[in-house]
Amino acid sequence: MKVTQAEIVISAVKPDQYPKENLPEFALAGRSNVGKSSFINKMLNRKNLARTSSKPGKTQTLNFYLINEMMHFVDVPGYGFAKVSKTEREAWGKMIETYLTDRDQLKAVLLIIDLRHAPSKDDVMMYNFLKHYEIPVMVIATKADKIPKGKWQKHLKVVRDTLELEAEDELILFSSETGQGKDQSWRSLQYRMNN
Ligand code: GDP
Repeated sequence: MKVTQAEIVISAVKPDQYPKENLPEFALAGRSNVGKSSFINKMLNRKNLARTSSKPGKTQTLNFYLINEMMHFVDVPGYGFAKVSKTEREAWGKMIETYLTDRDQLKAVLLIIDLRHAPSKDDVMMYNFLKHYEIPVMVIATKADKIPKGKWQKHLKVVRDTLELEAEDELILFSSETGQGKDQSWRSLQYRMNN
């Protein structure tokens, strides 16, 4: 898809702040520093639209991006910071859970993981959570440029095995450096938007 327009429309912490339009939505989830902002920027052809705002202590919000007046990307704050307090973690969990489990126009969650490493416990937990609620998942294995091509399949297998990825769930090799996987990701999003 040719992205001609992308802007952040709202940072929400509760449902009455979500956009009112009934446009298809794709949420992006991943542990902090995995490359989620870079993924969003690459997909939207922007250098700095999404920023790493998931540092501890910063406000944790759901950031809605309106794309070509057709769809929203919903940036979910990164998980896996050991330093945040229990109260903060619980508030985070509640906000995410409310959004993910009660949003009719949510078409899929793009779970961003790092191709270099086996998915973390938090990644597995997020994947299982999504399966439990029957939310379609696309796993995006990013930072592919950091792994020699000859080892991609081996790393993808570790990802599949660790998540116990179900056949219906897509796994896409991605790099925000080279743009690899971008066309494939857009094809999948467009297909899901229309089905
Ligand atoms: P976020 O916290 O998940 O939003 O992560 P960022 O997008 O800010 O990325 C964290 C770090 O990883 C930054 O230094 C990025 O430049 C780097 N990074 C992200 N994606 C890629 C990628 O595909 N390839 C490489 N080589 N580096 C990446």
